Amino acid sequence: MSAGNCGNHARRKSKSEVGLTAPMARICVYCGSNPGHRPSYAKAARELAEVLVANKFGLVYGGADKGIMGVIANAVLAAGGEVHGVIPRALQDKEMAHQSLTALHVVASMHERKSMMADLSDGFIAMPGGFGTLEEIVEILTWGQLQFHRKPCGLLNVDGYFDDLLRYLDHAVGEGFLRPENRQMLLCDVTANGLLQQFADYSAPLVEKWAT
Ligand code: AMP
Repeated sequence: MSAGNCGNHARRKSKSEVGLTAPMARICVYCGSNPGHRPSYAKAARELAEVLVANKFGLVYGGADKGIMGVIANAVLAAGGEVHGVIPRALQDKEMAHQSLTALHVVASMHERKSMMADLSDGFIAMPGGFGTLEEIVEILTWGQLQFHRKPCGLLNVDGYFDDLLRYLDHAVGEGFLRPENRQMLLCDVTANGLLQQFADYSAPLVEKWAT
């Protein structure tokens, strides 16, 4: 199955070997506003934070101070990295906004938030999360499929969290609703290091979404 995308790296590079530099400068991370049940989710968020800072990537995320979102923001800040939060005013007013970010962008709506997160970022990672996480990664993939951008998108597949989603996407390919080339746009790895390496090697497909 295509979760094989998450296990096909014959040799993993050590963190210091990643060596990812420009042109990518900021990575957007979509992730749960809840912590989830497994400690591995927060652990993976801290590891991703470490890899981002080690490779001089800033973090862009939804601006909240809770769940996996709070874990990754705090871990990047603690490691000396930059964090840009983008939050709609309605959520800020509910006192969910992180108060100590490098920059907190307060916007009018969820639509404006996702658009600003996309503009600020050079690549997009989804970690375990719920509806919000799913819709954000699917929307940015959809924009990529329509060739509105050519930036890499990927899943950090902690403890097989996304295996069923990957199976569903293969089903969509098999049923003729998703082109294989577009399916391949969703990168996947079980480590932050491996995923960012795939980002560095990524080039967007040239295929048109629409069948001729
Ligand atoms: P979910 O996966 O449903 O927990 O939603 C998390 C994702 O949606 C994050 O990547 C955020 O961008 C956005 N989001 C959902 N709830 C919140 C919240 N309370 N505060 C900030 N962002 C949120």
